[in-house]
Amino acid sequence: MYNVVEIILKKRTGEELTKEEISYMVQGYISGKLPDYQMSAFLMAIYFKGMSKDEIVNLTRSYIESGTRIVFPEELNTVDKHSTGGVGDKITMTLAPIVAACGAYIPMISGRGLGHTGGTLDKLESIPGFNTFMSEEDFKNNVIRHKLAIIAQSTTLVPADKKIYALRDVTGTVESLPLICASIMSKKIAEGASNLVIDLKVGSGAFMKNMSLATDLAELLIYTGERFGQKVRVVYTEMDSPIGYAIGNAIEIKESIEYLQGKLIPDVDRITKQLAVQMLLLTGIVSNEEQALIKIEDVLKSGKALEQFGKMIKLQGGDEKVITDTSLLPQSENVLKLISLKSGLIKHINSQKIGYALIHIGAGRTTLESKLDMGAGAYLYKKIGDKISAGEQFGEVHCADVAKGELVVKEILDSISILRSIPSGWCGVQNPEGV
Ligand code: URA
Repeated sequence: MYNVVEIILKKRTGEELTKEEISYMVQGYISGKLPDYQMSAFLMAIYFKGMSKDEIVNLTRSYIESGTRIVFPEELNTVDKHSTGGVGDKITMTLAPIVAACGAYIPMISGRGLGHTGGTLDKLESIPGFNTFMSEEDFKNNVIRHKLAIIAQSTTLVPADKKIYALRDVTGTVESLPLICASIMSKKIAEGASNLVIDLKVGSGAFMKNMSLATDLAELLIYTGERFGQKVRVVYTEMDSPIGYAIGNAIEIKESIEYLQGKLIPDVDRITKQLAVQMLLLTGIVSNEEQALIKIEDVLKSGKALEQFGKMIKLQGGDEKVITDTSLLPQSENVLKLISLKSGLIKHINSQKIGYALIHIGAGRTTLESKLDMGAGAYLYKKIGDKISAGEQFGEVHCADVAKGELVVKEILDSISILRSIPSGWCGVQNPEGV
């Protein structure tokens, strides 16, 4: 018999927990015997004291064992991608339909908004009727027959991550390598993906603010994958300027559809193709990068990727007409202009601050019970390295409540640092790619 307070104290003093102690805490929490306040204290102790590699594997195992583990026929050589979280990160919506249209099988358990970052499930649920809950049977059938399904954790699929993820979001316990690793890897192992590409975001809008933290997390993700027989490849992507132009739920779906329809959005295009190449290489569908890029261009230009997205929306109960008519997506009543107060070069964007600001107009949650405003968000048309002039409109805030929207306008203006004098010889090149 274990004592919850003793386990919390043991972690608080930095001692290593046994597999049984970890499992006791996780099981206790999902069964409802352990209250939120004790789990929060436990998570905070992990946040401050960290965990050994063995503890992380055991935490991941206890999350997986809280539900069922799906198994696909080996010959499908399933593949998935997971992002460690960013601002404006809509890459799942552009990437997954492309890779599925190229022939890969993608089972995907995704996440909701976490901390200042948005979540794929919230974005998808902004599509009228879209359902992220599905029986395991239907999930398996959809992947086997139609190549792609994106669902949420449930009472039978990684319920531990479902409950703990939501609690971390509102208790300041997100940016912890052990908790991030267990959260990501439990979903990705339980869903039955044989291969996994991690989009490891680094920068002001990411949880990993520098390369040293990022490489530590990469090592843990790869190690944990290996322990469960999953092949993991990590791609580092820069996360300083928000990705694309839209940040929110419905407006990010709109932008993803526009990309799949053929609109060039440079950073979305670069990241999507970078990850798609790795996913196709891992499955063996292509044998080199050149072949991968030819296939990717083909499904984009022929409209097959957009069609695949529409098919997935329909199979998950959503209105697939959104892929040709994005006005069917929820929209906010008010649009406030973002106007620059200064002229110069954009030196830095505090994307994390922007992510948190947007939560106040309903793009994310502040409590477990918070309701989202699916139409809320912002468009930012400038990136780090771009020139901007005083009085120039560089974006918009979409909101239901104008007073709150005005505060968000102010927060966004405060998040952008402008270098007043433009260095001589400046030719408008954006910040270097990569990290
Ligand atoms: N993505 C997840 O699924 N979990 C985390 O903790 C962070 C990013």
